[in-house]
Amino acid sequence: MSTQQPFTPDDVYCVYCHAPAAGPCAVCGALCCGDCVELVMGLTTRRAVCRSCFEKGRRPAGAWTARRVAWVVAAALAGAGLAAYALK
Ligand SMILES: [Zn+2]
Ligand SMILES: [Zn+2]
Repeated sequence: MSTQQPFTPDDVYCVYCHAPAAGPCAVCGALCCGDCVELVMGLTTRRAVCRSCFEKGRRPAGAWTARRVAWVVAAALAGAGLAAYALK
């Protein structure tokens, strides 16, 4: 009796170094191992971005950059200021 081995597709390996992939790039979806990604800090989660995307400055849509956080803080402060003015 012959046992058929399930075919393992090539895409479970890192597209850069062919080590077993840890997960997809959050930008382009390329499967990468842990050594070939950069972790981008979000407010609540860390997103893995492949080296190629990272070097091009591409970031996942859900990532919170420092500039975006600054904008949200500024908007919140402006809103609080307007509310205080309106309630005066
Ligand atoms: Zn790799
Ligand atoms: Zn990528």
